[in-house]
Amino acid sequence: MIKHHPTPALLLAFTQGQLGASLSIAVSAHLEHCECCRHQVLALQETSAQYLDDDIEVDEWEDDEMISTITDNDYELHPKQSSPLRVNIREHEYTLPKALQSVGLSNWLKLGKLSRARVDLNEGEVHTNLLHIEKGGAIPRHTHKGFELTLILAGEFKDEVDTYVPGDFIWLNDANTHSPSTETGCLCLTIANNSMHFVQGISQVLNPVGKLIY
Ligand SMILES: [Zn+2]
Repeated sequence: MIKHHPTPALLLAFTQGQLGASLSIAVSAHLEHCECCRHQVLALQETSAQYLDDDIEVDEWEDDEMISTITDNDYELHPKQSSPLRVNIREHEYTLPKALQSVGLSNWLKLGKLSRARVDLNEGEVHTNLLHIEKGGAIPRHTHKGFELTLILAGEFKDEVDTYVPGDFIWLNDANTHSPSTETGCLCLTIANNSMHFVQGISQVLNPVGKLIY
């Protein structure tokens, strides 16, 4: 069961189209898993529509261009069917969320049990990756200089706090230290705006891991 959700503030920013591409994709992908947050987004959209209705004269709504702009930005609760995007990594095949259908992916880079493909969003210091951890794999204990968002797409992983399942939306910052590991193997979408900081082992040795994941 999903226990970790975007905050209400993040859902509101999503509804208002205020998030960058990576966070917008992550929230959309969470919504594909989470009926509860889908209902919250719909309610927020209705509230915004109500607010606009109260605020704008009826004849202004006859401007087709304005109406189509608003509709284009809407989150579709029932997205149009398109052929699902599949990725193959280390003899596993995964179907990606619809939110990731139209983005470019780099080749996979592998290091031990970790594999990473970059999601091409061109957002400067904000890096978005698909991260695959083979079963029995782990990431050394670390903290973050900025934020790190992990959305589980398949499989499970655990850290000192909890066990996470597909749809779990885990937002961490420099106040959090953890060492994730997976028994089953997992595929995650990760977004970070700075490299991780290892607090265990010799950080020089772990540098390649940090570079791979950021
Ligand atoms: Zn949710």
